[in-house]
Amino acid sequence: MQEATTETSADRLTAIRTRISAAAKLARRPAQDIHLIAVSKTRSAQDIEPLILEGQMLFGENRVQEAASKWPALKERHPGVELHLIGQLQSNKAEEAVALFDMIHSVDRLSLVTTLGKAMQKLGRAVPCFIQVNIGAEEQKGGCAVAELPDLLKAAQDAGVPVAGLMCIPPAEVEAAPFFALLAELSARHGSAQLSMGMSDDFETAIMLGATYIRVGTALFGERPRMM
Ligand SMILES: *Cc1c(COP(=O)(O)O)cnc(C)c1O
Repeated sequence: MQEATTETSADRLTAIRTRISAAAKLARRPAQDIHLIAVSKTRSAQDIEPLILEGQMLFGENRVQEAASKWPALKERHPGVELHLIGQLQSNKAEEAVALFDMIHSVDRLSLVTTLGKAMQKLGRAVPCFIQVNIGAEEQKGGCAVAELPDLLKAAQDAGVPVAGLMCIPPAEVEAAPFFALLAELSARHGSAQLSMGMSDDFETAIMLGATYIRVGTALFGERPRMM
């Protein structure tokens, strides 16, 4: 498997861009409607920079603390890079998250909406948010219940939190398509514009079903070191 080890993240990025274009064409959608977020959790600045040099400008992190230690320096070196929070957010980190991130994909409860609204007002910074839906009604998973979605959307509006759209992480080990389709239907029902869904193993399916932001880690960077 010599080839596999010499393949760079830049090579993988090119391959993924080709697959995104092909999936968009099949879905009869403009490829530029699909935004690739490179999920860089656990990766070092050294891993990340080659992708920026290839023109990859959107990155996703799942922990505020890890992002805070890596990204301020990277953003200074590479203006125009956008940072997305894709992992669960604790209310006590909301202000730090508003200061650091350009979009937040994991808003899933009323108390967080309120806290984010206050933080945005205090910092004078409007960060577009996704409401994360627990689309498979899984006990351990983040995201609001489907039934809570209307209340959360209303609360966000009241709190001045801009909602970009809906996000989901479907259950592992089963076909993701029905869950993506359900999120797309909820999105249409509530008139939200963006859909954050699809990861390394299923982003083409997500594109077929309307994803506008896909979150890809492993397929770009290779397997993550165990632990996180
Ligand atoms: C880690 C992560 C991803 C990327 O997953 P891969 O399978 O490595 O592509 C996407 N979304 C969220 C919320 C994640 O935590």
